[in-house]
Formats: sequence, C-alpha cells, structure tokens
Amino acid sequence: MMSGKEYLESLRAMKPSVYIYGKRDPEYYSHPAIAPAVNAVRETYEVAADPALDPELHVLAVAESDLTGGKINRFNKIIQSKEDLAMRMKLQRAMMRRTGGCFGGRCVAGAVINALWSVTFDVDAEKGTPYHARFRAFMKMVQEKDLTVAGNITDAKGDRSLPPHQQPDPDLFVRIEEIRPDGIVVNGAKLQQSGAPIAHERLIVPTTALGPKDEAYAVAFAVPGDAPGVIHVNDTACANAKFSMMDAEDIGNAEFGMHQSAHIIFDHVFIPNERVFLCGEWKASRDLVHRFSDLQRLASASCRCGHIDLCMGAAMAMADYNGVAGKAHIQEKLVDMSVDAETLYGMVAGSAYLSSPTPSGMYLPETLTVNAAKLYMNDAILKTGQRLAEIGGGILITRPTGRDLAVPKIGELLKKYHQGRAGTDTMDRIKMARLAESLSGLSGPTTILSVIAAGPPATQRLNFRLLSDFGRNRKAAERLAGVVSRK
Ligand SMILES: Cc1cc2nc3c(=O)[nH]c(=O)nc-3n(C[C@H](O)[C@H](O)[C@H](O)COP(=O)(O)OP(=O)(O)OC[C@H]3O[C@@H](n4cnc5c(N)ncnc54)[C@H](O)[C@@H]3O)c2cc1C
Repeated sequence: MMSGKEYLESLRAMKPSVYIYGKRDPEYYSHPAIAPAVNAVRETYEVAADPALDPELHVLAVAESDLTGGKINRFNKIIQSKEDLAMRMKLQRAMMRRTGGCFGGRCVAGAVINALWSVTFDVDAEKGTPYHARFRAFMKMVQEKDLTVAGNITDAKGDRSLPPHQQPDPDLFVRIEEIRPDGIVVNGAKLQQSGAPIAHERLIVPTTALGPKDEAYAVAFAVPGDAPGVIHVNDTACANAKFSMMDAEDIGNAEFGMHQSAHIIFDHVFIPNERVFLCGEWKASRDLVHRFSDLQRLASASCRCGHIDLCMGAAMAMADYNGVAGKAHIQEKLVDMSVDAETLYGMVAGSAYLSSPTPSGMYLPETLTVNAAKLYMNDAILKTGQRLAEIGGGILITRPTGRDLAVPKIGELLKKYHQGRAGTDTMDRIKMARLAESLSGLSGPTTILSVIAAGPPATQRLNFRLLSDFGRNRKAAERLAGVVSRK
C-alpha cells in the first residue's frame, strides 16, 4: 500500500491540466487553494500505511480485498456484507474526527465504485456485455496500485426541467460523441467534483435516470487525470479563499480544513474500450443513480457524525476557556449535540443492518432509513454550527490575527484582553476559536453575528424565565384541575 509520501510523489508524477484563479498550474497540488485537500487525502494513506499513527483508525482504514487477495485501502473496497457497510460508516466518522475536513471525496468514489460494480454485473447478466469483467480488471488495478479515484456524477444539466436529449446544447450532460472500434470519444463536463484534480483516476457515471432517447448519455468510464482533453478548473467558494489570502496560523485547521472541488471538462476525450463500463444501456441508469445515491448518503451522514464530534470537542474547550463549562445551558447544548450525533449514527447503522445484497453480492443500505439519515443530517449540521457559535462566543469571528499578536506591546495588550478563565492559556483560547469558526461553517459574519451579537440566545431565554407569567398560568391550570393553589 502507498504511504502518504508516495501519494504526494505520485501526484507530482502526473501532469493533469488544472486551472486555479485563471492560470494553469503544473504544481497545483501545492497551491494553497488545493493543498489542504491533498493533505487530507495523504492522511487517508498515512493511517492505512502506519498502524502506529492511529491504531483504532488503522483497523478501519485497511481491508482485505476479494480481488487481489491482499490488503487494500477500505475506500477502494467492494462492499460485500453488512459488516463492510458498518466498517465504512465507522471509517468515515473516525477519519473526519481526525481531519476535520473532507478527505478528497473518497466517499463519493466508494459510492460510484460499488454502484457500478453491481450495475455492470446486472447489465452483463441481461445482455451478455463485457462491462463487469472490464470493471473488475480496472478495480483490481486500482486496488493493487492503491490509487485514489474521484467519483464524477454531477453534469452541467442546463435547464433542469429538460432531459439530456432535449437540452439546446447537446453537451450539457456527458455524452458519447463517437463510437470507434477501439473505444469511444466523450464530450461534456462534470461540475463541482470533490477531490477531482488530486485523484489518480476519474470514474464517470450518469447523473440522472435516462430514457430511450438519452442513449448517448448512458455512459460510464474511467479516465486518468492527465489523459489528453481532460481539463480541471478549481472551484472557488469564498470560504476557501482564506487559504490563499490569510496566514496559516489565522485559519482554523489550515492543514486539512477545506472542501476542495473542481469542474472537469471532457474536451473530446478518447476512452479505450477496456475503460468503458456502460455504452448506451440507458435502462441501467436508474439503478445506478439509486445505488450510488444511497451509498453516498450513508458515507456523508457517517462523516458528519465525526464533524459533530469535533464541534462538540471545540465547544467544550471554548466553554472551559470562557469559565462557563459547568453552566446548565452549556451542558444542555453539548448534550443536544451528542444526541444529534448518536441519533444520526444510529440511523446510518440501521440502514446498514437492514441492508440487502444486489445480485452481484454488493450490499446496499436500506433506502428509507439512509435517506432519513441524510435529511436528519441536513438539520443537525446547521444546529451544530449554531450551538458551537453560541457556546464559543463572538471571538469565533473577531479574534486578532497572528500578525497583530506579534506587534510589540499591542500583542501583549491583545493577549491580556483575550484571556479567559485563570489557569487556561490565552493562545489556546485564540487557536480554538479559529478552529471553532472553521468547524461551525458559519464563517460569514452575518450568521455568527446574528447568533451572538445583541447577546447570546441564553440571555434572551433568561428574559422569558424572569418575565413570563408562570404563576398566572399555573393558577389557571390549577383552577381547571380543581386543585387548591398553594403558591
Ligand atoms: C462542495 C460540493 C462538492 C460536491 N462533490 C461532488 C462530487 O464529488 N461528485 C459529484 O458528482 N457531485 C458533487 N457535487 C454535486 C452535488 O451532488 C450537486 O450539487 C447536487 O446533486 C445538486 O446539483 P446542482 O448543484 O446542480 O443543483 P441544481 O440541480 O441546480 O438544484 C437546485 C434546485 O433545483 C431543484 N431542481 C433541480 N432539478 C429539478 C427538477 N427537474 N425538478 C424539480 N426541481 C429541480 C433542486 O431540487 C434544487 O432545489 C458536489 C457539490 C458540492 C456543493
């Protein structure tokens, strides 16, 4: 298996076309707009290669392969039992607890790999096509070389109300442009692809269930990142701009804390036959979309449990520095965070327990349970950020920069005015505030300002404790119940 260092070397050896802020960058992997994601993927290699780094995580990160007979990274494993699903779930949570940031969308790849594994099996059984054997050979190579795969699903889609063949521009969904004896030529784009430039291979599948007139869009294939005609343009969320603009010390989790994604443009790209896994089988797209969606929902919901774990940890630390760790409303919020993490985890575990095998032997989580988990996650993650901001306070978005802290006299004064409870370290408080801001996902001042400024929510609740006419209401209830009021 590859070490983290070898993963970095393998990226340097590839020569993909990657544009960042308007320029093609041959050293894209070290650009600040991408490097934290590279670090997080590197970490998935490190924990698998080195048992001493994190023994608990190592056990989750390494799996036995049915294809190679050897040890492989679990992100590349075909899920062949309920236990495999449970291990995937545990790996996602523990890995996120370690990095606090997306590890290059390796979860998406796992979902696409497994969905394609099972669907190519079904298509071959019905039509006698060679797709499953080809995909098996591809996955054996991926496992043996311990490669990273990016799962590429989301098309440009144009007018969302129209199917691919009715779009005014035929390339708004990736399509087969030409079929040749030795392969196909594809054209189109996949947008917002997690970890796209930093994976060795891209695995492309349709984004939606297709109809008979969409045959040209029913295409699945693998292509290396540096194949001719494959172009990456890095996505730029404002929140990620801080990695290019700010000093690392001012960014919470500068090493890993970025979700990196990119657009991939396929500019008339030739794909040899051995890398083509669907070519016109439009009926298969429905199962494919259903299967990767459910597998992806299991992975991302598990991942967010690890994220809530970290938010809880940061909230506890901030409460301690602020001297309010024991206060009832803080404890209540921490418990609420834990309840959300375990409820979510329980739902994912339920979907794994209720999973069933597809004809290929690949296990699929139970659909309703895993979709309920994903919906629960959407709300839980927003509430978590809000609770973290409530507990941490305004310092999450107002702390001084490292450069300010380094100015003689001013720096000392800033530290004096940022101290918390006696016995805690002021710089620890500032560092944790940076991380908490990053984890909260509420980096724009408006959200944290709304939660905290004009007083944290506990102070508004206090008004209700003081001013609500509880006595009047109790008397009203006692009168109706026929109870003599003793108050
Ligand atoms: C940070 C990030 C990372 C991502 N990583 C990956 C990745 O690794 N791989 C990958 O393949 N994708 C990835 N995605 C893409 C993600 O799966 C899509 O964002 C998602 O599927 C929604 O597509 P969209 O953004 O085009 O939204 P839209 O399709 O534009 O949806 C916007 C709204 O329109 C509604 N809508 C759309 N079509 C219809 C319709 N026909 N009828 C009714 N309502 C409709 C939707 O419900 C939604 O409310 C990523 C996205 C983000 C933001």
